[in-house]
Amino acid sequence: MTEQTKEPKVEDIKTAAEAKGCPVQKALYFMTEFLAGPMCGRCFPCAMGSFEARIRLQNLVEGKGADADVLALKKIAKHMIDASFCKKGKDTGKFILDWMTTDVFQEHVEGRCPHMQCASLIEYRIIPEKCVMCGDCKDVCKYHAIDGEKRKPFKAGYFPFEIRQKRCTRCGECIKVCPEGAIILVPANMKEPVGV
Ligand code: SF4
Ligand code: SF4
Ligand code: SF4
Repeated sequence: MTEQTKEPKVEDIKTAAEAKGCPVQKALYFMTEFLAGPMCGRCFPCAMGSFEARIRLQNLVEGKGADADVLALKKIAKHMIDASFCKKGKDTGKFILDWMTTDVFQEHVEGRCPHMQCASLIEYRIIPEKCVMCGDCKDVCKYHAIDGEKRKPFKAGYFPFEIRQKRCTRCGECIKVCPEGAIILVPANMKEPVGV
């Protein structure tokens, strides 16, 4: 006989969501897990609200968010609190409003993740003055997103190490191996060059 999989509780999903730093990521994680588990679909405000909220949150973490997404999320959350049939839907609405008490959601609309966790809103960059051209970052990058030429004795005119942003998946492996701390995280599309 196969053992039945236990459905996760709303409280447990909330605890796991809180482990994330960025409130938008917390809300997106919560909503994704809520939809996959405890949300039973028996009432419209919770069922439709959860689906719609998830789409709006996804827009924000992907850097495609607009003021309308933030307004819609507040409206959905209030409606869930007022009209959901059971505590699970009402609690979900409260959690969303709690995560929205800071300016972080609005900052995502403006293209910034203050916690530097939303991959579409951040970039890894190499500080040229700190790079010793060891090539460790290039060796570890599985996505071939780093260009550059390792230092060799008696050679001049090196091709400097640089991250190709279009190829970079923001996996973070390069930052872990750089012996000089020459790789940093910056807001996406930052115009200024990075320096020491
Ligand atoms: S509020 Fe409760 S009854 Fe309504 S869809 Fe959500 S989990 Fe189901
Ligand atoms: S973050 Fe990952 S994909 Fe991007 S350059 Fe570093 S190792 Fe490569
Ligand atoms: S690991 Fe660091 S020091 Fe080495 S090439 Fe990459 S950025 Fe430069």
